[in-house]
Amino acid sequence: MAAGREKAERTESCPYCGKGLLLRSPATGTISCNVCGAYFDKGILYRNSPEPSGTELYRLRKWQQRIRVENAAERNLAFALSELDRLTVANNLPRTVKETGAKIYRKAVSRNLVRGRSVESIGAAAIYSACRICGVPRTIDEIADTSRISKKELGKTYRYLSKNLKLNLMPAKPQDYVQRYGTKLKLSEKTKLAAIKLLDEASEKELLSGLGPSGISAAAIYIAANLNGEHKSQSQVSQVADISEVTLRCRYKKLADALGITLTFQ
Ligand SMILES: [Zn+2]
Repeated sequence: MAAGREKAERTESCPYCGKGLLLRSPATGTISCNVCGAYFDKGILYRNSPEPSGTELYRLRKWQQRIRVENAAERNLAFALSELDRLTVANNLPRTVKETGAKIYRKAVSRNLVRGRSVESIGAAAIYSACRICGVPRTIDEIADTSRISKKELGKTYRYLSKNLKLNLMPAKPQDYVQRYGTKLKLSEKTKLAAIKLLDEASEKELLSGLGPSGISAAAIYIAANLNGEHKSQSQVSQVADISEVTLRCRYKKLADALGITLTFQ
């Protein structure tokens, strides 16, 4: 233990002269520089000569500033990681999303993109992006609801990050939402598969472009559930997807029309 500590002290270079090392004298226990003789007394580093030169003062200030910046960055990152943890739990996300979010956050820090922005907004945008990258999409509303920032700020920060970090984001597909929405509605696997089939068919015919993926997913689920005799109301389905009933009606009628499905329910 003692040897390890001495070794650590020996590698500390003198902030005054920049050439010497700060060493502890085994006889007196004082720590001093082996080149310029600067020494510690009650935790304060003193120069040994009376007049510090401009260069020495400059070097000392730079050193103190660097230590301050490093400490602040470490505190900021620790806070950010706890925010990512919190968002992961609140949105019931797998660990890979949290890890990807942390990578994005660190990248943003190293590119100096966090300056002037809150940890909460960069953290939420990192998680939102990570969801997309990992193929477990959450809507911007869902992430905003569990974060401490508005949907508008989240959208802005997300666009800023994805542009500056060149995040390679696949747009979320409506098929990606079926499993989660279907499970929330307690639908059978057969019905979920039927909904995915409807969406596959629609995307082959390029009917889905420009429509919000969560809404179109809800529409396919609504149709598939009712065709399979697992009746779900428009209110139940629209709530799960967090869209209005009007939007759901509009989407499912459009989808049914486009696929040539005749609905016996309204
Ligand atoms: Zn020195």
